Amino acid sequence: MVICITKEKFYLTTAIPYVNAAPHLGHALEFVQTDAIARYQKVQGKELRLVTGSDENSLKNVHAAEAEGIGTDALCARNAAIFRKMADEVGLVYTSFTRTSDRKLHLPGVERLWKLCDKSGDIYKKKYRGLYCVGCESFYEESELPNGVCPEHNKKPEEIEEENYFFKLSKYGKKLEALIESDELLILPETRKNEVLAFVRGGLKDFSVSRSQERAKGWGVPVPGDSSQIMYVWFDALGTYITGIGYGTDEKEFSKFWPADVHVIGKGILRFHAVYWPAMLLSAGLKLPKRVFVHGYITAEGQKMSKSLGNIIDPFKLFEKFGVDPIRYCLLGGVPTFSDGDFSEKELVARNNNELVANLGNFAYRTQKLIEKFYANEIPSAKLDADDEAQLAKTEEYAKKISVEMDKYELRRGLELLMELSSSFNKYLSDREPWKNEAKRAQTLYVSSRGLSALAILSEPFLPFTAEKMRKALEIKKVEWKDAGKELLKPGMKLNPPEQLFKKIEEKK
Ligand SMILES: [Zn+2]
Repeated sequence: MVICITKEKFYLTTAIPYVNAAPHLGHALEFVQTDAIARYQKVQGKELRLVTGSDENSLKNVHAAEAEGIGTDALCARNAAIFRKMADEVGLVYTSFTRTSDRKLHLPGVERLWKLCDKSGDIYKKKYRGLYCVGCESFYEESELPNGVCPEHNKKPEEIEEENYFFKLSKYGKKLEALIESDELLILPETRKNEVLAFVRGGLKDFSVSRSQERAKGWGVPVPGDSSQIMYVWFDALGTYITGIGYGTDEKEFSKFWPADVHVIGKGILRFHAVYWPAMLLSAGLKLPKRVFVHGYITAEGQKMSKSLGNIIDPFKLFEKFGVDPIRYCLLGGVPTFSDGDFSEKELVARNNNELVANLGNFAYRTQKLIEKFYANEIPSAKLDADDEAQLAKTEEYAKKISVEMDKYELRRGLELLMELSSSFNKYLSDREPWKNEAKRAQTLYVSSRGLSALAILSEPFLPFTAEKMRKALEIKKVEWKDAGKELLKPGMKLNPPEQLFKKIEEKK
């Protein structure tokens, strides 16, 4: 008899950012949120795919390249590398970085997607006049433009008239409404679900899915069978979610991982992901993603980040100055998971010093330092009393509580619970005073080391670099969520010499 154990799979994506400019802190927020979800699923033992990449076939990139006096391909290659560097630096566990200019891995899949929509009778040609915002790469109705300007870019859209291909979005209104209403296509949070439903119920209009070669300046994916037209950049960019796992190039991989468990996106592109994309998939006869996770925007010191205000926060500088995990901690713990939030260095310093250093860092260092001092780095054996058992039981209890929140994608709540667990151990250690209470020293330090080993696992989704450091110090080789309450550290086991996990940041006077 052959016993076949198939691992459960989990597939998620970040949005595929335009690379016309360098990444800002908002991109870092999305990468960090996506990564926390991914790592959490991974330590549940799931086989993971995470697709991120760069949206390169946009007119914005053409304009940005023109402004710099370089080729569009050169601009895209350079900027895509910067986004990739940021993904690497924040620790994003991506399995594919898909560039939409990739003719080998991306093109065949989007061509197939187009042909399938065409075959369903959902693509037709029509003469059109409309208002187009290049910043959004989107047409707008006059009624959608307060004071005649794009709400995202505060700029007047261009009036455009040409013959384009259209997609029959109007055909899918009822179907989409039912899918979203029933949560078969789950939109998180509820407020965004209601926003999409209102939009769908307002009646869907067909949308343009191509532009002339001339307007596209020859840049982009040609429409199959009509090289005078270039695919609308959103049509090909959304396709990244399937081409990134092999659609059109590796059918085995694609059928194993599609549909996506979750698309992580910002609120500004909700319509594309909750309306256009599912309609395209329905038309092509492909399964729909299970969830769309919609985060808000990040403000800097209370103000919207913008080039003109000169307050764009460069994530690379922050990582260099403060380390990655303190930034991850602020993005996941300081910014509400599903709405807008603020980032300031002042709050970063406060959170780093009062929470990471004083709570988790302090507990870890004291525990290890005391084990080094009194037991030559060896876990002591001890008889536990009822208080010890109660403290120990918290590891399993919190592993479950954090899971409940993470399964609902409540990342901030999950992180808060992690710190609550750490704080409870930190207090236990302080109250017991094992440095002077000799009678209870061994049992206190044994229980503390068990707490530390649980924290080394449970902090993996949020603070992966710190978690790894902790596991190294404790000689924990693998990381599985279900082990968090277990006795990973047994009496007699030798630990590595203690090191500080976080650095206190001196406040500027
Ligand atoms: Zn715009």
